[in-house]
Amino acid sequence: MQTRFPQSYPQPLWKDRLRSDRVNVRRAWRRCCYSRRMPRVARVAVAKPLHRLFDYAIPPGMAVQPGARVRVPFGRTPLTGVVVELDDSADCDPGRLKSIESVADASPLLEPADLAFQRWAATYYHHPVGEVILAALPLVLRKGEPVRLPGAEGWRLTEAGRQQLEAPGRRAPRQVEILQAVAAGGEGGIDRQILRDRFPASAAALRAVRQAAWVESVEIPAVAERALADVSGPPLTPAQQEAVDAIEAATGRFHVALLDGVTGSGKTEVYLQLASTALRRGHSVLLLVPEISLTPQLAARFRQRLGDTVRVLHSSLAEREREATWHRVRLGLSRVLLGTRSSVFTPMTDLGLVIVDEEHDGSFKQTEGFRYSARDLAIVRAQRAGCPVVLGSATPSFESLRHALSGRYAHLRLDQRAAGASRPRIELLDIRDQPLQSGMAQPLLDRVAQVLAAGQQAILFLNRRGFAPVLTCFGCGWISDCPHCDARQTLHRHNDTLWCHHCGSQRRVPRTCPSCGAADLHPLGQGTEQLEAFLAERFSDYPLIRVDRDATARKGSLERKLQQIRQTGAALLVGTQMLAKGHDWPGVTLVGVLDADGGLYSADFRATERMAQLLEQVAGRAGRGDHPGQVVIQTRFPDHPLLRELVRRGYRAFACEALEEREAAGLPPYSFQALLRAEARDMARAQALLDDVVAAVRQSPAAEVELWGPVPAPMVRRAGRFRAHLLLQARRRDRLHAVLDGLPQLLPSLATAKGVRWSLDVDPVDLY
Ligand code: ADP
Ligand code: ZN
Ligand code: ZN
Repeated sequence: MQTRFPQSYPQPLWKDRLRSDRVNVRRAWRRCCYSRRMPRVARVAVAKPLHRLFDYAIPPGMAVQPGARVRVPFGRTPLTGVVVELDDSADCDPGRLKSIESVADASPLLEPADLAFQRWAATYYHHPVGEVILAALPLVLRKGEPVRLPGAEGWRLTEAGRQQLEAPGRRAPRQVEILQAVAAGGEGGIDRQILRDRFPASAAALRAVRQAAWVESVEIPAVAERALADVSGPPLTPAQQEAVDAIEAATGRFHVALLDGVTGSGKTEVYLQLASTALRRGHSVLLLVPEISLTPQLAARFRQRLGDTVRVLHSSLAEREREATWHRVRLGLSRVLLGTRSSVFTPMTDLGLVIVDEEHDGSFKQTEGFRYSARDLAIVRAQRAGCPVVLGSATPSFESLRHALSGRYAHLRLDQRAAGASRPRIELLDIRDQPLQSGMAQPLLDRVAQVLAAGQQAILFLNRRGFAPVLTCFGCGWISDCPHCDARQTLHRHNDTLWCHHCGSQRRVPRTCPSCGAADLHPLGQGTEQLEAFLAERFSDYPLIRVDRDATARKGSLERKLQQIRQTGAALLVGTQMLAKGHDWPGVTLVGVLDADGGLYSADFRATERMAQLLEQVAGRAGRGDHPGQVVIQTRFPDHPLLRELVRRGYRAFACEALEEREAAGLPPYSFQALLRAEARDMARAQALLDDVVAAVRQSPAAEVELWGPVPAPMVRRAGRFRAHLLLQARRRDRLHAVLDGLPQLLPSLATAKGVRWSLDVDPVDLY
């Protein structure tokens, strides 16, 4: 395993330099004439906010390879960096060059292709290259700790465990199941992570089994897992088969397919089929999913069909576990990686298929720091690997839909639900003159009662957590403004706080008005907490499960709740958009949307797209089992054209119409944008910097790039800082980037940059 990378020194480096992006032909030529053959200089990436690599001298006798970590002096403290290139002379005065202190890895962690991909991403998003490359490593490695290659750690049955299994007596059934699973691993044991994924909601039982010493720790040897399990899927429908055939025809070359299939149409079956074929060919598969909450179910389904070669990477894994998984897929010991956004950077052996599930999902875009789109990078990665990429969604993003409609992507459609269930009936409930109880109108309450009485489940969807979005004084009109933002603090009853969802500031709920002292404070509006309290009283005979970020903060609690939903009969589910995503609950026959109006009249041109996606996704939870589903959308705008279009003809018709409007207005996806954000202690400074940028850009022949702004951000003050925006837009991507390329150098050189924080967001998805 250690020798996977050929020891390739000395090599004619100048050839590579000639081929590389920023080639300086003349210097390369000089170098090849005069240089000695051994590389003397390493170009190193360090996690600093600087748009460049740093040169270090390689001490004589030290073997340094690109892709390996090194310890280098930097300022006052040594840092862990990654060697990106070797060269035989430095870009600066060789006398001033510092030397590498030590080499951390005997063999490279990143291959040249990985480094090239990461550098491409850094260039495209104009983010400091060292931060991008270091972020591709698991945290423990970023911090400079030694690699721990697989063998993974596992559990094996002890003698005491065997006895328990033979005479289980009154053992808790979950513990017996766990012992059985461990026993199935035999002497070699079972991987800890696999065991935990198999019993996602049973942390307590796992702990009990461990504490009773029925299992013992073993090291599992680093063997490749058998790639395929024996379970085969249902025979594909003709539409599924067509999609599979079309994508498999592109095996071995770059090709983008949009798998545009209504919820429950069997997209996941298509992924499984494609993945198993790829595995048989000896390829690896990268599957990106939006949220962790989806992975327990999905991972189990993938494992069942493709075997233990399926590995999961997500943020709630322990760091060393992440590292173990990272090595396994990097070395090709495991062949399927199921992961969230950042997995797109994980090195993989023989990548042969990339899948992005729910490609429209906003969580693929990182909105802080390195602001990349994992969906877009997945396409680039597939292109560089020369393999097909599948974008799957019931509500494709306008970007993807545009390319599918124009023929640039293959447009594969699944219009029927696979298991035969029909599309739910959707209706608008006009609440303009309805009295509401905790946000619910009587007709909706009646429907809920019917569904519960029939032994079925209902989802009530409200995309606002907490008890109420505002607390107000009826005496003087005081409202719970956040002291740091142009926003209100939300009332949370569970911990009795007022809490700003934008900056996180909290305070205890006052008993009397902070302004006039009256004991006349009242919540305004509804959040999920309030809805839960109301429904728990109203339908006290039925279990009620709330799913939102507050209710699932504790580790494992979401998994427990999801499992509970699958296992109970009649029940009420209350939640935010966490409930909308991907879940498959056959018992749900009614979905009520309490407040659909938020997205209708927003300043952000993408708000309607997002709202339509959300509504269609929530609606998709209804009627996936034997009973038909119904969806009730409460609204004060029952005549709004978007809502009508969605209800009558569904998402795709709506999207096609909205795309025409975008094209006419010259908005994305028919143009390309970047957002330059500036924030400072006062607005004038933030604006002044952006004014200077505008002036500088206007001086250069920046043809065809429109500059909008600077303008105050939609939320002017956030976390105590004032924010201004400059939007850059062009019909052609290359024109836009020609201007962006200069900004990282320009901004720090401007006098007005002092005391102003700025960031550049390429292809921004929200303009806040
Ligand atoms: P999606 O990913 O599009 O939401 P799934 O792949 O999860 O859809 O399929 C929805 C349901 O239909 C699942 O219960 C799945 O087992 C079932 N299903 C999918 N394809 C078929 C098929 N060809 N025959 C029978 N059932 C299928
Ligand atoms: Zn008051
Ligand atoms: Zn705030």
